Parts: sequence; structure tokens; C-alpha cells
Amino acid sequence: MSPSELSYIINELGEERGEYFDAVAPPIVQTSNFVFRTVADMKRAFDDEYENFIYTKGRNPTIDILRKKLAALDKAEDCLVLNSGTSAIFASVFANVKSGDHIVSVNRPYSWAQRLFDNVLPKYGVATTYVDGRDIEAFERAILPSTKIIYLESPNSWDYAIQDLRAIAELARAEGIITICDNSYCTPLFQRPIELGIDMSLQSATKYIGGHSDVVAGVLTGTKEMMKKVFNQSQLSTGIGIPPFHAWLLLRGLRTLPARLERISATTTTLVNWLKQHPAVEQVIFPFDPSFPQYELAQRQMTGACGLVTIIIRAKKMEEIVIFSESLRHILMAVSWGGHESLVIPRCASLNPQDFDAANPEHRMLRFYFGLEDADYLKSDLEQAFEAMV
Ligand SMILES: *Cc1c(COP(=O)(O)O)cnc(C)c1O
Repeated sequence: MSPSELSYIINELGEERGEYFDAVAPPIVQTSNFVFRTVADMKRAFDDEYENFIYTKGRNPTIDILRKKLAALDKAEDCLVLNSGTSAIFASVFANVKSGDHIVSVNRPYSWAQRLFDNVLPKYGVATTYVDGRDIEAFERAILPSTKIIYLESPNSWDYAIQDLRAIAELARAEGIITICDNSYCTPLFQRPIELGIDMSLQSATKYIGGHSDVVAGVLTGTKEMMKKVFNQSQLSTGIGIPPFHAWLLLRGLRTLPARLERISATTTTLVNWLKQHPAVEQVIFPFDPSFPQYELAQRQMTGACGLVTIIIRAKKMEEIVIFSESLRHILMAVSWGGHESLVIPRCASLNPQDFDAANPEHRMLRFYFGLEDADYLKSDLEQAFEAMV
């Protein structure tokens, strides 16, 4: 996507300013319902809620501006904005499976996607097989006659394992299987799964699109036909749309998305290089570092990498990792990412202390998100926490 196309989408596309007093910022159309003047008009709307304003659970003008921009960023025909990234996962899957169907998922998808596949869908007769997403043949072997969906997340959000989206899309298309890719790591600025042949792309808008850690939302893009199916079968029957105010916050976040990602990418590159030479760090995992095992594929498929970086810290005891994490003053210990503030999650926060095994590098993982702060400010915070460990 050219820089001018990006500027146009973010600043102008979908904004009919003449319709709202030539205001630069779009209005928050804070209404639950819309009026009809004739029975015939009401009937027409009832016949196709996807094309008409009836009730904000379905369509709303503020949300529509956002939908147009997000569809264009993904080079998709259409887009739905839902009340969380998790809803986007649920909605896309739910509209496309029935009892007896099968899903092939990449190993270790986002935790609540995995729980949907493991704990919820089996109650409705839908089974999931997990495969190593780095191995195309693993997908071929896992496909059954009943496979309806191949579910991907590339890169994933801990070790950034990547799938060859174009190759998997081709394989799935030949078998009539729908492909879905969680693109939260990259955003459409750094990777566009639909251009690579994937049927539906989704992301947690809570992360980079919102960008300020103040709204939870999700984005799903695909063909208009598919979005209409998901709208009718998932969004309307479960009520997982977003309020107009949240759409407005996301529009506000979008205005600065390219500038924020540029800054975050630069800071992250600086910090990756610094962490790589740090004696307390055994390994740095970052898809755009030449040491990354799938570096070549990352370069081919993605045009950038963002603020998520995982390190394997040198530690003999969990206590050392606890001291490091608790010593950070500016980098906050919290889930999520994509906001202004830098964050850390130590992998050991999801382990029982008696299960900690220093010989297992995964237990010594810490995932950082580098936000909008100055790189030196973050570096000195990390340095003092490394010093506190010893
Ligand atoms: C956060 C996240 C989600 C879920 O998004 P929510 O908006 O928190 O529901 C999905 N996938 C990935 C990779 C995420 O990081």
C-alpha cells in the first residue's frame, strides 16, 4: 500500500463531512434506534438489516465510517467491528461450523481461541486438531473430509512462529476450506492476509488500532458475502457489536496508527540490538532479527514488525525473574499491548512456582511490549532491573 493511499484511507475515506456540519471529527451517533416514515421503508429494512440502519446492535453511522477504513486497510471488501478481538474470533468461527465439523488450528493460538476450540466447541460437536504452523505438510495431514476452517495466527504473540499464509491459503482453497488469520501482531500496515489469499483476517483492535489502552474491540474483514453471513449468524444473534463511542475512539486511534507504528518499530529495533548483547539475556526472539529461525519468511510476508519482543533471561531460580519483573519502574507488568505504555509479562506468572524449571527456556521467557516512550528511558529501566537481579 502506498503512503498516499494510507493517508487517504486514514484521513478521508468514509467521511462525508457535508452530512454533519463539515465537522472534521466525525459525530458519535449515540442512538440505539432509527426512525422509519413508512411501513414500506420499515419492511425493506427488516428484509436486510445488513444494508439498513435499524438498531445500533447491527449498524450505526459512526461504526460504519470505521468499517470502511478498516476494510480498505486490509484490501478487503467489507469489515465488521465487534466488542473484542475474542468476539471476532468467535464470530468468524461460529458462523462457519456446525455439529460434526472439524477445525485445523495452528499450535498455541491466542489463549481464548484455544479455549473456544478445546472447551466450548466440543460441546456442539466441533473438534479441533492442532498443527505446527511452520510445516505446510502438517496442515495437509490434518485435513479431514469434515474440515471447514483452517485457523491461523501469524506471528503468534509469544514466540512469533509464522505460517506461510500464501501457501496455506492455496492449499485450503483447493479443498474448499475457509481460512482465518489472527493478524493482531502486525496490523494491516505490516501484513495483509487477504492479499495473500486468506479468506478472513481479524485483529484485536484493543491493541494497536485503539492504541491508548482505553478501549476493547475487534476487527474482522473478508468478502461482503462472508461479512454478511457473520453479521447475521454471529453479530446479531449474540449482540457482540460495539457502542458508537468505542468506534469513535478507534477512529481517533487510527489517525496516528502509522506514526505510532513507525516510532514503536524504531524503538524496538534499538532495544532488540541492546538486549542481544546484554549478558543477562540468553536469547532475544523477534521476527525481524536475522537470528529469528523464520527470518526469511518474515521478510517476505511482513513489511514490518512491531513492539513485541520475547527474551529468555539467564536465571537459575524463579525468584530472580520475579525480582527483575518487580524492579521495573516504567515498564508496567500487565497483559495486552499496542498502547502508549511499555509492558512486560513474565512467562512464570502462569506457572505454579513448584513447577518452575530453569532448564526449560520457556519458563525463563519474558515478553515485552515497547510503546511510545523514549528508547533510552526504557533501556535505563531495563538496566536497573537487570542489576537488581544479581
Ligand atoms: C489480545 C489478543 C486477542 C484478543 O483480543 P481482545 O480484544 O483482548 O479480545 C486475540 N488475538 C491476539 C493475538 C491477541 O493478542
